[in-house]
Amino acid sequence: MRYMSTRGNAVPQAFCEILLGGLAPDGGLYLPERYPQVSRSELDAWRHLSYADLAYEILSRFITDIPPADLRVLVAKTYTAKVYCHTRNGGDATRITPLTRLEDGLYTQELSNGPTLAFKDMAMQLLGNLFEYVLDQRGEAINILGATSGDTGSAAEYAMRGKHNVKVFMLSPDGKMSAFQRAQMYSLQDANIFNIAVTGMFDDAQDIVKAVSNDAEFKKKYKIGAVNSINWARVAAQIVYYFHGYFLATRSNDEQVAFAVPSGNFGNICAGHIARQMGLPIARLVLATNENDVLDEFFKTGVYRPRNSVETSVTSSPSMDISKASNFERFVFDLVGRDPTVVRELWSRVDQGQAFDLSGTVHWQRMPDFGFVSGKSTHSDRIKTIRFAQGRYNVMLDTHTADGLKVALENRLPGIPMIVLETAQPAKFEETIREALGAEPVRPADLAGIESLPQRVVVMAPDVAAIKQFIVEHV
Ligand SMILES: *Cc1c(COP(=O)(O)O)cnc(C)c1O
Repeated sequence: MRYMSTRGNAVPQAFCEILLGGLAPDGGLYLPERYPQVSRSELDAWRHLSYADLAYEILSRFITDIPPADLRVLVAKTYTAKVYCHTRNGGDATRITPLTRLEDGLYTQELSNGPTLAFKDMAMQLLGNLFEYVLDQRGEAINILGATSGDTGSAAEYAMRGKHNVKVFMLSPDGKMSAFQRAQMYSLQDANIFNIAVTGMFDDAQDIVKAVSNDAEFKKKYKIGAVNSINWARVAAQIVYYFHGYFLATRSNDEQVAFAVPSGNFGNICAGHIARQMGLPIARLVLATNENDVLDEFFKTGVYRPRNSVETSVTSSPSMDISKASNFERFVFDLVGRDPTVVRELWSRVDQGQAFDLSGTVHWQRMPDFGFVSGKSTHSDRIKTIRFAQGRYNVMLDTHTADGLKVALENRLPGIPMIVLETAQPAKFEETIREALGAEPVRPADLAGIESLPQRVVVMAPDVAAIKQFIVEHV
């Protein structure tokens, strides 16, 4: 299996070659040259596999340059009940991503049972083990530099903690995250994790990461890398839980299901799209946005209009607050018949902050083949949906999953189970839960009192030179 760029001007590469990088050299995103097809007999054989064995079967179609026995070990040590232990609602941790039944034909799938209580752990934990393996093989090292306003940074730190040949320098806006989020990151005592609280906003932290990454010489000399949402391995790892959710919600492979996906950067639902392209019987992919509705607008009208930062709202489902969707180019590549010339043309506009409009093109006519529908959810919808789920089903939802359920309920198909992907636990968003329910969300027992643990963080001014100096002194 080799990977090509959506913009068509990069040499095709094997999985391990693209694992540690970000964008393809031509500015595009990597995708497999073709999607592996899953036959009916394979689906039948996979139905009763454990999560780890299923993950091995699926990932081995995409990762052909790691010896099978080694890949099996990496996957088995990633997907354990111990790593994904934070189940709620009586869910069985050995299933890794168990379903919670809300009513007949309506489920949530718990993707947030990992160390940081958000779905990013599903892929990031695998990435940590893959990075360590590949770096060991090559005798190389990497220094991951990132900026976070919450979920991604903590998932990356928990995935990379204690890994050899990997260090993480994570910038966060000083005092802007919740006490719980700060405690999650800053209480890590591992020597390879460096928390830097920048006195400024998230954008200041992000700008520093960009400035450092744009210094090619520094980047090369200090082996600076990233683990952002465009990383192909993250998308690949996410394909697995769509298969697993399908098997849990159905009795036979003659049935179809629908998935509702709270979306921001289009990474999660991109994996669902690929699962469907591989042959998983998905009738419908329901994309849910919050007030930042750039994707809902596209799926309704064919117009993709990235927003600027002024037009991007801060909401109570903050992990979906995006101005443009970094993985969306992967879907558009498939939509336009995998023609890189078209993608290059469209993204020459996007890269200049402009919109494109596919309505009225031949590409838009093919849209129904892809099974997408979309909707949006606002703060008041979120509050109402959290109350509704608590009252009707006695299930406490986080704010992002509430957006998913709201849009799912508007888009059910008769006779077809709807699976809403639960992307975070309510314990991460106490303030909104209090507003909706007047109660505190339950927190997993092992995270009680995490705020009082000793913290390991340095506070620094948003000064590129000073932060470079910090990296130099600690690599
Ligand atoms: C990252 C995240 C999302 C959005 O996922 P994308 O892959 O960016 O579409 C939704 N919910 C939560 C809780 C997240 O952390």
